[in-house]
Amino acid sequence: MQRVVIIGSGQGGYQMAASLRQDGFAGSVTLIGEEPGLPYQRPPLSKAYMADGDASRVLLKPESFYERASISVVADRVTTIDRRAQAVLTEGGERHPYDHLVIATGSRPLRPAIAGLEVEGVLQLRTLADAARLRDSLSGCRHAVVIGGGFIGLEFAAVARGMGVGVTLVEAGPRLMARALSPEMSAHFLAAHRDMGTEVLLDAMVVSVDQVDGRALGVTLRDGRMIAGDLILLAAGVCPNAELAADAGLPVANGVVVDADLLTADPAISALGDCANFPAADGTPIRLESVQAAVDHARHISRRLTSDARAPYDAVPWFWSDQGDLKLQIAGIGANADERIVIDQDGVPMVLCFRDGRLEAVETINAPGQHIAARKLIGVPLELLKETGFDLKAAAK
Ligand code: FAD
Repeated sequence: MQRVVIIGSGQGGYQMAASLRQDGFAGSVTLIGEEPGLPYQRPPLSKAYMADGDASRVLLKPESFYERASISVVADRVTTIDRRAQAVLTEGGERHPYDHLVIATGSRPLRPAIAGLEVEGVLQLRTLADAARLRDSLSGCRHAVVIGGGFIGLEFAAVARGMGVGVTLVEAGPRLMARALSPEMSAHFLAAHRDMGTEVLLDAMVVSVDQVDGRALGVTLRDGRMIAGDLILLAAGVCPNAELAADAGLPVANGVVVDADLLTADPAISALGDCANFPAADGTPIRLESVQAAVDHARHISRRLTSDARAPYDAVPWFWSDQGDLKLQIAGIGANADERIVIDQDGVPMVLCFRDGRLEAVETINAPGQHIAARKLIGVPLELLKETGFDLKAAAK
C-alpha cells in the first residue's frame, strides 16, 4: 500500500495522519480538509477559547510537524469519491488517487424546524470561525438565548455567565444532557447552572426566532412565551457528514456504517470519529461524538493498515465536559443501565451505572483519579465494587 488519503482534517483526520507516521507507514499521506488553516481541537472552542479568545492554543500541531512528517495538508472540499478508480475529486478540481481512503468528515450542527434560524444574531458553534463570531457577538451582548441543553449549549452558558451575560437556556426534553447522562447527574447540573444564574427552561420548545429588520430579538416558545435575547445560540445536537459516502454507494445509517474493524463495505475505505457508525462491544451500532472515539478509531485503523494486527475495535469510551467549576467525566456508556448507584462525595455525586450486575459507566465530577480508575473497571461485577465500598481507585489496583 502506497497512498493513504484522509477526507477531513479535524481531530480524527489529524490523528490518522500522525498515527500512520508513528506506526512507520512510509507511503504518501494526504489530509484534505475544507476548513482553512491547520487541524485544531474543538473542545476549547466552547471553553478556554470562548473565555480568552486565544486561537494559538487550539492548533493540534504547528506547521513544522506536517513538514517533518511529510504529511500533505490540502485545503479543499472533497466532492466525490470515485470507488472504481480509487480516487477522490475536490471542489478545486484536483484528483487524489488512493490505495486506502479514510472518511473522517465529522458532523455538523442540526438545524431543527424553527422559523427564522437564518436571521442575523442566530449563531452556531462547530468551527473556529463559528467560535470567533460567537465570541465577538458575546462582547456586546446583554442576554443570550441558548437552544438546546446538551454539552455545548451548557458549556457556552457557563462561560457567558462568567462574563456577566444573562442567559436563558431552552431545552425541549425533561432534563439536561439526557442522551449521555443519568437523571441524577442531570439534576445536579441543572441546580449548578441555576446557581450560576442561568435561567433553564425544560420541556420547552422553541418554534421561531423573533426578529426586526432581519436581526434576532429573541425566541417564541410553543406555549406562546417570548424570551428576549440579542444573541441566539443554536446548540440542538449534530448530524453526521455522511453524504459523500452515501453518494459513493456505501451503506449509511446514522453515519457511515463500518464493521468491528472500522472498515466500510468497501475494503479500501475506512471511516472514523463523529461520522462513523460502528458496533459497540455488545454489537449494538453506535456513533460517538468525542475526542476519545476519533483518536482511538484513528489509532486502530493505523495499526490495521501498518501491521497484521487483527482485533476488533473495543476501546472504552470516555468523555469530559467543563461547565463552570465542574469537570464532568464519563467512562463507558450508561444509556441502557438497569441499576444506578449514586455515591455522595462531599455533596458531589458519583454515579455508577450497571446492566445485568456489571459496571457499564461511571460519571464523576472533579474526580480525575476516580475517572481514570473507572475506565479500567468497565465490565466488572457490582459485588466486586461493593467489597471496596465503591472506592474505584482501590478496586482498580
Ligand atoms: P471533526 O473534528 O469535526 O473533523 C471533521 C472535519 O472534516 C471538519 O473540519 C470538516 O469541515 C471536514 N469535512 C467534512 N466534509 C468534508 C469534505 N467533503 N471535504 C473536506 N473536508 C470535509 N469532545 C470531547 O470528547 N470533549 C469535549 O469537551 C468536547 N467539546 C466540544 C466542544 C465543541 C464546541 C465541539 C464543536 C465539539 C466538542 N467535542 C468534545 C466533540 C469533538 O470535538 C468531536 O467529537 C471531534 O472533533 C470529532 O472528530 P472528527 O475528526 O470525527 O470530526
